[in-house]
Amino acid sequence: SRQLTLASRPHGAPTDKNFELKTVDLPALKDGEVLLRTIYLSLDPYMRGRMSDAKSYADPVNVGDVMVGATVCQVEESKNDKFSEGEWVLAYTGWQSYAISNGEGLMQLGKEPANPSYALGIMGMPGFTAYMGLLDIGAPKEGETVVVAAATGPVGATVGQIAKIKGCKVVGVAGGSEKCAHAVEKLGFDACIDHKADDFAEQLEKACDKGIDVYYENVGGKVFDAVLPLLNTAARVPLCGLVSQYNATSLPEGPDRMGMLMGQLLTKRIKMQGFIIFDDYGHRYDEFAQDMQKWLQDGKVQYREHMVEGIENTVSAFNDMISGKNFGKTVVKINDA
Ligand code: NDP
Repeated sequence: SRQLTLASRPHGAPTDKNFELKTVDLPALKDGEVLLRTIYLSLDPYMRGRMSDAKSYADPVNVGDVMVGATVCQVEESKNDKFSEGEWVLAYTGWQSYAISNGEGLMQLGKEPANPSYALGIMGMPGFTAYMGLLDIGAPKEGETVVVAAATGPVGATVGQIAKIKGCKVVGVAGGSEKCAHAVEKLGFDACIDHKADDFAEQLEKACDKGIDVYYENVGGKVFDAVLPLLNTAARVPLCGLVSQYNATSLPEGPDRMGMLMGQLLTKRIKMQGFIIFDDYGHRYDEFAQDMQKWLQDGKVQYREHMVEGIENTVSAFNDMISGKNFGKTVVKINDA
């Protein structure tokens, strides 16, 4: 198996030096085990937290261990009655080309799934995150204005499209004109503002002429700064992620604005709630899967992937995603099917 292990903890953006690509021989299979051949590896922002030993909701990857991550694999060899050779599974085998599993925690995807990699995106963790965060915490009502950043990524694109299904006005925020055009033309958003524009805050205000009722928070930083004054009374802010600060090594400079934030939350009775998808909503996956399957079939939700080839390109693909050079859900193709 070719494996990417964590060689040292990154300071700021990870580099190739923080990882070691090595080839190891896997032992022969024991009874009850399966050999998994990784076809697709999901790259997700939360992985930056696992590279760090700062306290978080999940333990970090130990230095020397294989980096964690969700994968879609094919069973190459099976000594487990529940799994047969050639079948596809959703696994959590991490940044490696082959892995041995005892079958626990594998989700079976069948012999010939139509879009196996979707289990890492629109039908998997990011899609589920968008669905629960928006519907359960954001609770959007028809006619309300919903704003979401990272609007063409797997979470943001799904949030906006579900909000459209629920009859909302949707304003996306994305990096660059190509992504913004995609959000409006392909995803059906009402508007999408480029956060790199000098007059970003003014453009956002113009697009949200009735204020913002739901701000689905993916990024933090200057996008939140522009959103805060536009939030309406009783606005909801599902706090999903803060990707603009995942590589930060210190707090941003400038005056302490905590008092101002608290004042806004109080006087406008804003609800801001963080959530960790599987910890808070794991028991509701089926509800999501049923709705999403139908929306995909009916063409109500579009999905775009950013596919990169080869395990050796994983680190650069990860950094591209964190910094916005991806266009769609980042997936690394590790082996051919
Ligand atoms: P994406 O594929 O959308 O990648 C992240 C995107 O963030 C980039 O493509 C970029 O898009 C945008 N971005 C990066 N830096 C900035 C910045 N400084 N300002 C504005 N935008 C920026 O990621 P996902 O859809 O997988 O994840 C989205 C968010 O959801 C993340 O914060 C992630 O941590 C969070 N999440 C949380 C979960 C939970 O359980 N709470 C579960 C899953 C995801 P652009 O070029 O458009 O700016």
